[in-house]
Amino acid sequence: MAAWLLAAPAAAGETVAEPALGARLAAHITFLADDLLKGRQPGTAGYDIAAAYVASQFQQLGLVPAGEGGGYFQQVPLRRAYLEPGSASLALETDDGTVPFTFVEQFYTGPSVAQAEADLSAPLAFAGYGIHAPELGYSDYDGLDVAGRVVVALAGMPASFPSEEGAHFASSREKYRSAIDRGAVGLIRIHTPRRERRSDWGRVRDRVGAPAMAWLTTAGEPWAGFPQLQANLVMHHEAAVRLFEGAAFSMQQLLDRDESGAEMPRFALAGRIHARQRSRHDRLTSPNVVAMLPGSDPLLSAEYVVYTAHLDHIGELHGDGHGDRINNGALDNASGVSVMLETARLLATGAAPRRSLLFVAVTAEEKGLVGSEYFAINPTVPATSLVAAINLDMPLLLYDFGDVVAFGAEHSSLGGTVREAAGEFGVALAPDPMPEENIFVRSDHYRFVQQGVPAVFLVTGPRARDGTTDTGATIQRFLQAHYHRPSDDLDLPIDYAAAARFTRINARIGEMLANDPQRPYWLEGDFFGTTFGR
Ligand SMILES: [Zn+2]
Repeated sequence: MAAWLLAAPAAAGETVAEPALGARLAAHITFLADDLLKGRQPGTAGYDIAAAYVASQFQQLGLVPAGEGGGYFQQVPLRRAYLEPGSASLALETDDGTVPFTFVEQFYTGPSVAQAEADLSAPLAFAGYGIHAPELGYSDYDGLDVAGRVVVALAGMPASFPSEEGAHFASSREKYRSAIDRGAVGLIRIHTPRRERRSDWGRVRDRVGAPAMAWLTTAGEPWAGFPQLQANLVMHHEAAVRLFEGAAFSMQQLLDRDESGAEMPRFALAGRIHARQRSRHDRLTSPNVVAMLPGSDPLLSAEYVVYTAHLDHIGELHGDGHGDRINNGALDNASGVSVMLETARLLATGAAPRRSLLFVAVTAEEKGLVGSEYFAINPTVPATSLVAAINLDMPLLLYDFGDVVAFGAEHSSLGGTVREAAGEFGVALAPDPMPEENIFVRSDHYRFVQQGVPAVFLVTGPRARDGTTDTGATIQRFLQAHYHRPSDDLDLPIDYAAAARFTRINARIGEMLANDPQRPYWLEGDFFGTTFGR
């Protein structure tokens, strides 16, 4: 690679106008967020057109096909599940009678990828946040017997938890696993006021009708389907009040503790719940799109730095309604894919870095990081040859950022690389401004972390370059008004000069990692390295 291609601006910190790079980014986003693609839901023509576009761009850049069968695609076998309309019911049964709850207003359940039919009647136990984290000296299950019971737990995690380790333990999968390991047969998570402040309960309505997806093992079983959980529900705290009537603690007392950070009690509850639902299943495949830039070093070229960006989005609105129905996903994640394509162009121009680079546009991120997990577990190159992952997901390219948040940076040697790369562009690293969002476990890099691969994921940070733009308001406005809505589209004021700089930083990180004689490593004693490293 020619040094000038990725070099920082002459005076670090100055904005360099990059009309050509900005225009190419705009062109990709414009295509991928077009209404014609109808929100890029896996299994639709819109997604497949997006995949063909990315493959075509890879080919144009001269990248080597690194999918299956000499092509750019890796087909991910998927089970798709739809909730049968009207089939979800939930009732509380006590000595005083039966209290039914209404679907969507009071409780929500998605379709089950594990079972077509569920009909569960079981007693309940309250287990704090439903978290078992001995590494943090914490367990909501100490002294609590939940065998044969449905675990009732608050959303989220204790306020005292560290951001990224906490994100791991508060993730859905860890909560499922902790409950199942103790013989629980169901899980009810309570939507608290603390959760409501960042995720409006009203938005569960948007999810009704949306399919769930899981990738299928060679035995045809859904991966991480958790069939042991015969009920897996979310309940609004106002409805959940009924579960705690006559119990040692009321719902309000527990919510107060959630707000104040006080210790959570755990106890069995008196009633039983009766939960039912039916799901309809079918099979499909959806491609990850994979390309390789071969490294130049005779030895190091057998190792890969992998970039990921999810190509899918959430499709069209389900349910009733008028107006714009298409969730275009301009920032989520047409922007990340566009940045990855231009990163590939920067790295493919000129002399090759020493290690090889992989570029993977993954499917079904919005279904639970499904395509990235399939690739991380079934990579098209030897699994042990993946040395680092760099993810691109929903960079909020709406302002001229002065810093970036680098999720994962403090866990591995990637942190030093990212700091240096960003520093060349006058950009500092900022701490996670929203630890309660659990961002670290919510995008595709995490599937690589779980396979032991050090990973990093950059988003634009809280400081504006001009020091005056209120980026907090910009970010909040996006999350509240546009995130996962039809208005995440090309009407958003995307700052393409900032997008160009964001691209160069991410390209520089990959270039540095690919040229470093030292393979990236987990920091000594790091939680993720200890838990997943190999
Ligand atoms: Zn999303």
